[in-house]
Amino acid sequence: MVKSNPNISNRQNQILEKLGNCDDELSGQELYRVLHAGESSMGLATVYRNLQVLVKKGLVRSRNLPTGEVLYAPVKRDVHHLTCVDCGITTSLQGCPVKNINLPQSKTKNFQLLFHTLEFFGLCQHCLERQST
Ligand SMILES: [Zn+2]
Ligand SMILES: [Zn+2]
Repeated sequence: MVKSNPNISNRQNQILEKLGNCDDELSGQELYRVLHAGESSMGLATVYRNLQVLVKKGLVRSRNLPTGEVLYAPVKRDVHHLTCVDCGITTSLQGCPVKNINLPQSKTKNFQLLFHTLEFFGLCQHCLERQST
């Protein structure tokens, strides 16, 4: 059982819990479906609105795929991906290559850092072989 955060609404806690229970990132649509499979009757617009609030509070991270889709995950899960620009297949990296990177203090002095994204794009083996034939 995930301890609920008293600083956010019940709906936001529900969203955070579902994201936390999922090993993978979820799009707004997928999250909406997961919530509907349970007891929640949150509308899609409400899901997106609450996701935005959670991102602004630094509890949820978001990343944009080349397809325009946005994926969400709990901010504490610091995972990065290799994405094939052709078929869109995604592989997650073990560990965060920039976890301990130091940003210039002059830049972060008046800026509360919440999360970062780091994306690698390329061609997967399958697409590489297909292109060379
Ligand atoms: Zn590919
Ligand atoms: Zn990272």
